[in-house]
Amino acid sequence: MGLELRAPRRGRRHAAARLAARLAVTGLTAAALGLALLPATVTAADVRQAPAASRPPLAGKVIGIDPGHNGLNHTDPAFLSHRIWNGREWESCDTTGTQAAGGYTEARFNWNVAMDLRADLVKLGARVVLTRTSNHGLGPCVDQRARILDRAHASVSVDIHADGGPRSGRGFTILEPVADGPNNKVIASSARFGRDVHAALLRSTPMRISNYYGRNGYISRNDLAGLNLTTMPKVLIECGNMRNPADAALLVRPSVQRSIAAALAAAIIRFLAGR
Ligand SMILES: [Zn+2]
Repeated sequence: MGLELRAPRRGRRHAAARLAARLAVTGLTAAALGLALLPATVTAADVRQAPAASRPPLAGKVIGIDPGHNGLNHTDPAFLSHRIWNGREWESCDTTGTQAAGGYTEARFNWNVAMDLRADLVKLGARVVLTRTSNHGLGPCVDQRARILDRAHASVSVDIHADGGPRSGRGFTILEPVADGPNNKVIASSARFGRDVHAALLRSTPMRISNYYGRNGYISRNDLAGLNLTTMPKVLIECGNMRNPADAALLVRPSVQRSIAAALAAAIIRFLAGR
């Protein structure tokens, strides 16, 4: 089931100002974020003197986040292997995901980035829908994840993953849908969102374009339920390669996870602003 969360009202203005300062490194100014009234460092006096709050940039928007896999997927191979329809063919419900050599799992990485991103988006006024509620559960299957976000009528969604590629390979790749019926109306918009994500990751995270997968950090995929079944603009991001020691050292770091989340938030704002 999807999980919908909102930040408490109290403190939201301070939080928004802090977030604006953090997102400023992504190239988005406070003005672009609709937070022009709030300086980067906000005092109580500033808040008292500020005119009526401007509308947060993501007010009224529903944003979907699918943190790939789940922490207990490895405990039930039969569940993972049952067949689901991905919009084009039958495939497995899900996989365990990959992990770094030290044992840090992709499911945990995906979840942490999702939580950071959710916090950022809620501060920006959005309603966030998640495809799972913790990192100590099983499932749901990939087709169900797509349906949760479709049913929520999200404006845009992102599937968060990290890859288990060849040990020598580094970098991020953005996976984009191919028209197959259900997703026909969101192919071009997903590509536009993908470009926003690509630019934001390069601008404000230490992750670089993949040197082993896709082309210039992009690849089209017609075999993934999350992309085949989506009815809103969506991309799947392989944020880096957990099997590469240098990428893994970055991906497990909370500051890097926060930077990836901030980049995604900036890309979502830019995408929804329509440029
Ligand atoms: Zn994955």
